[in-house]
Amino acid sequence: METAGLYLHIPFCHAKCEYCDFYSITVLDQMEQFCRMLEKELQLRAAEGQTYQFETIFLGGGTPSLLSEKQLSGILETVYRYYRIAPDAEITMESNPGTLDAAKLKAIRKAGINRLSMGVQSFQPAELQALGRIHSVAEVLENFGNARAAGFGNINLDLMTAFPGITPDSFQKSLEQALALQPEHLSCYTLIFEPNTVLYKRMQLGEVSPLGEEEEAGYYEQARILLEANDYQQYEISNFSRGAKRVCRHNLIYWRHYPYLGFGPSAHSFDGRRRFANQRSLMVYLKKLGAGQLAVDFEEQLTDQQRMFEYIFLNLRLRSGIPLADFEARFGTSLDAAFPQSIRELRESSLIEYQEGHLRLTSQGWLLADSVAARF
Ligand code: SF4
Repeated sequence: METAGLYLHIPFCHAKCEYCDFYSITVLDQMEQFCRMLEKELQLRAAEGQTYQFETIFLGGGTPSLLSEKQLSGILETVYRYYRIAPDAEITMESNPGTLDAAKLKAIRKAGINRLSMGVQSFQPAELQALGRIHSVAEVLENFGNARAAGFGNINLDLMTAFPGITPDSFQKSLEQALALQPEHLSCYTLIFEPNTVLYKRMQLGEVSPLGEEEEAGYYEQARILLEANDYQQYEISNFSRGAKRVCRHNLIYWRHYPYLGFGPSAHSFDGRRRFANQRSLMVYLKKLGAGQLAVDFEEQLTDQQRMFEYIFLNLRLRSGIPLADFEARFGTSLDAAFPQSIRELRESSLIEYQEGHLRLTSQGWLLADSVAARF
């Protein structure tokens, strides 16, 4: 059985954040029909999952915490009926703190979710408002406590950096408030100006502008210094965990280039060679599944060169780096033999180093990860 991850995309949100590029809609009246069709997709694709043992299930979106207890249980029961799920699987749900309360969190935990991810973004009220978030700081604090009371022993908080208006001082305060809650995991993501978002249009109109690369890197460095001083390990460029057991196992499946199956509109799947994605439209998704067809919109077969580049790019994001023996087993050549010149030059520039059977970024290289990966 090959290790794999299972992703479920729940494409509904109360309101659309102006920076968000994920597929979601704000009309909620088709949620029930969507759940039926998601279950149907899970059933129709059961044969695809037969060779996998799923170590993780991840409900993302959108806002999966909008699902009712019955809808959530129905989806998870279908997953367990048709797919082989590891007994100790990590089962994560993304949530918007403004959609949670004590009763809901108890129901989510009871349904089988064992890792909660809260999209906090900032602990500064003015920043939350500027980002268009529907939740308040008070709701984060209250629902973090409610989640603990409901039995969640594995909680992630998402924070955002490098957005217009953030300052090193406000970010420090957000980090400190996050730390005071003692979550098991923290993600610090840079705001990206994605085409087709309201924020991107505002940038084109000259109303806002992205921070420079150095300023962005400064926020990462600020997060790293404070979080590492408080016993969090930066195991991936944007991700910190309290101990090796609290890393996000689902994201590790992506970074280590293992297979994953994605369900729901816009969800991507990867079987090691072939990548494909569902339609990015709820209407089309419902229509196709309603007719008993899959809603695949796009697929590509990766060349060996693409696979190799993706593998390097993704593994370099991890603190541990590229596992050399695994690279050789997958590609039939050693990393050294495949890229002798790049490796020599990057080592001479002190941007990469060998460490315990891995090739990894140095601290200096970590701040230039994309440029380093582009040299392969
Ligand atoms: S709540 Fe999350 S998924 Fe929904 S619009 Fe905002 S950022 Fe996007």
